[in-house]
Formats: sequence, structure tokens, C-alpha cells
Amino acid sequence: MSATIIDGKELAARVRAEVAAEVAELGHVGLATVLVGDDPASDVYIRGKQKAAEAVGIDARDVRLPANTPEAELLALLADLNADDGVDGILVQLPLPSHITEAKAIETVDPGKDVDGFHPLNAGRLYLGRPALVPGTPLGIMRMLAEYEIETTGARAVVVGRSNIVGKPIAHLLLQANATVTICHSRTEELERHTLDADILVAAVGRLHVIRAEMVKVGATVIDVGMNRTGEGLFGDVDPAAAERAAYLTPVPGGVGPMTIAMVLKNTVTAARARRASGLAKPAR
Ligand code: NAP
Repeated sequence: MSATIIDGKELAARVRAEVAAEVAELGHVGLATVLVGDDPASDVYIRGKQKAAEAVGIDARDVRLPANTPEAELLALLADLNADDGVDGILVQLPLPSHITEAKAIETVDPGKDVDGFHPLNAGRLYLGRPALVPGTPLGIMRMLAEYEIETTGARAVVVGRSNIVGKPIAHLLLQANATVTICHSRTEELERHTLDADILVAAVGRLHVIRAEMVKVGATVIDVGMNRTGEGLFGDVDPAAAERAAYLTPVPGGVGPMTIAMVLKNTVTAARARRASGLAKPAR
């Protein structure tokens, strides 16, 4: 058996085309990215998000603040962006410098503009199964499962990793999609006992090939979120040899990664539509 490789790159291009059509229909959609400091990795991420936003016609504002910006100044800037009618979505690039409390910054962003889905109100709505802005990575995974018509109802889903940005939200989304969900983490004993039972296995750990081929159930769908950079390139959490056992597998690179940014752009359009529907935003002239 050799797995069908889920093409995240191709699907992300399709999502971006959908977003571009929606932006054209709405007339104006604005996104502000906020970077504090000059961390090179964060700079690469921000440039990627700016480029992707511009390519779909989103009016992207690139706000950069020096590393020593006082917390109060960042919070005041976020309050200004919340009040700015031209801004539908706000992304605060993490990590923030250590003198700034990340939770404070996240909680200052208007939940209606929180296109990363990190605000506690959005996390709480997700938990309750109510409409919310959901983080891009788990949203992208659900879209991949839907596109490849992978049955979630009644499926045994195992999520390895319990972070707030991937593990927990994807577990909730799978639960809402009627899967029977198990969440594993660093204290889980005999990890393979769980993974071997998974019809859908999501690996969001950040450890090179922590999921070995023999830990994968024959016929499973395997979603590899991991991004592990070595001298030889970018690798996932799942040993690619798992393709011999899995029915579907996301590659690294070219799987979950491209979907994440595309879904954040989608969230920006969702936020713009919701603001217009609620009368909070003026229609584009
Ligand atoms: P994180 O916050 O570091 O969480 C990692 C999780 O893995 C934790 O819950 C941890 O357990 C668990 N874990 C660590 N070692 C383990 C082990 N040996 N066995 C089982 N579980 C273990 O990471 P994250 O932000 O969720 O990201 C996970 C990976 O996905 C990273 O490689 C990251 O770069 C990548 N990522 C990719 C995208 C994308 O767009 N492709 C987006 C986001 C993240 P504890 O809670 O017990 O510590």
C-alpha cells in the first residue's frame, strides 16, 4: 500500500483563489500584521503573510515596532487598530519580547478581528461549538479532510500534542465532526498503543519523526503538522515511511504549512463579512 499524498500546496492555492473572489466582492478587506522586534524567523513569517494577503487583494498593513516598545504602547496600538474601520483582521506575531505579556496582547485584540483565533473568547466559542474565528492550522486540517472526503463521523482520531494553537483546537473540531478523540502529549505512556488505534492521526509535536511508520494503523489518514528544520531541510513529525501503511498522508513541506496562511486569509474575509453583517463596519465605497 502506498498512501495518497494530500496536496496542501494545490488546495491552499484553491483556497486563496476563493478568498480573492470574496475580497473582490466585498470591495475592501484590511489586515494589519504587528511585529515587535526584529527576530529573523518572525520577519520571514510576517513577510510571507503580507505577500499572501496582497496577492489575494487584501489591503495589508505591516506594522513594525522596536524590540524595546513598552507593553502599554503595544496595547494602545492594538486598541487603535481595533477602532480602525479599515482593518478587518489583526495578527500579532508571536513570540513577543519577554517584557510583554503575550496573553495581554492577545486579549487586547478585538475578538471580531482576531483572525489567528487566539483570543479566549474565540477559544471558548470553539469549545462550546459556536461560530468562532478558529486558528488557521486546525481549520486547514479540517478543510483537507473534507476535500479528500475522509470520514470523521465515528472515526477514531488521535491528536498528538495539546498546544492551544494546534492540538486542542483540532481535537475540538474533530469532536464536533463526530470523531472519537484521544489527545496525547509528552506524559502519555505507550504512545503507540494510542496511535495504532487511530483512523485519523494528527501529529503536532515538533520532534523529528517521533511517529515511526510502525506506529501508524494500516489504512489511516495521517496529518503531519510538525515543522522540524535540520541542516538537510524541513521535516515533519512523521517518518515518511508511514506512507507504506497509511491511506492518506500530508507531506512536509507542502502539506499543512501552506494551508495555514491560506486559512488565516479566509478568516480575514470571514471577519470582514461578520463586521459588515453586524453593522460594525462601513461598506466599502
Ligand atoms: P508546542 O506548543 O511545542 O506543543 C507540542 C506538544 O507536543 C505539547 O503538547 C507536548 O506535550 C507534545 N509533546 C512533546 N514531546 C512529545 C512526545 N515525545 N510525545 C508526545 N507528545 C509530545 O508546539 P505547537 O505549537 O503545537 O507545534 C507543534 C509542531 O507543529 C511544531 O513543529 C510547529 O513548528 C509545527 N507547527 C506547524 C504549523 C504549520 O503551519 N505547519 C503551525 C503551527 C505549528 P506537553 O504539553 O506535555 O508538553
